[in-house]
Amino acid sequence: MTFRATILTLFPDMFPGPLGLSLAGDALSKGLWALEARNIREHGLGKHRTVDDTPAGGGAGMVLRADVLAAAIDAVAPADDPRPRLLMSPRGKPLTQSRVRELAAGPGALIVCGRFEGVDERVIEGRNLEEISIGDYVLSGGEIAALALLDACVRLIPGVMGAADSGSEESFENGLLEYPHYTRPRAWESREIPEILLSGDHRKIAEWRRAQSERLTQARRPDLLNKS
Ligand code: SAH
Repeated sequence: MTFRATILTLFPDMFPGPLGLSLAGDALSKGLWALEARNIREHGLGKHRTVDDTPAGGGAGMVLRADVLAAAIDAVAPADDPRPRLLMSPRGKPLTQSRVRELAAGPGALIVCGRFEGVDERVIEGRNLEEISIGDYVLSGGEIAALALLDACVRLIPGVMGAADSGSEESFENGLLEYPHYTRPRAWESREIPEILLSGDHRKIAEWRRAQSERLTQARRPDLLNKS
């Protein structure tokens, strides 16, 4: 089973964008995952292919129409498509590494990118869209959020990352932030690599790393410690 991503966007040229390079790009050309970006405007109305309208009740900006978006969704994902249907949205559930793992282990995703003030609420309900946020700040559109989500998923697909276990010790994987890294040179601007990392004592090194992870998490993200 190949991880298949379908993006609905008003700016299909933003894809694959950065995901066409490096790890994700190599994996894409090897067929380890697939990406299709479709323009919502294909289903726009009238001569101008209109996709949005003014908000009911008044206020600034424009809202993506439910009928247009539903037609775009139905054209790429029939009712029996097993892939989750995601809507990138600052109102959504914050994306976590465990949700990323679940998505990466599945058949892929249909990802709707909002623009303007957002999308008509009825299409969220009517097409069962799961709202996902990438953080408590507002982007101008869902595309960069979709790229971030896909980048996080794709690197976990088997065969994409080089070292088989280079995912398992990372930040969030054990509920902690990662320990600090060092590499050559041994001394740089009179800063030394911590002695223990050069000792060759793997048990001590593992203990040191664990302690550093706990210290960093306590200092920077105590909310992670209280989670589980
Ligand atoms: N008026 C909306 C913001 C719209 S921003 C509000 O106040 O909630 C336009 C689009 O950008 C959204 O529809 C969404 O698709 C995307 N977007 C903005 N911030 C995002 C975030 N933090 N996470 C995911 N998507 C986001």
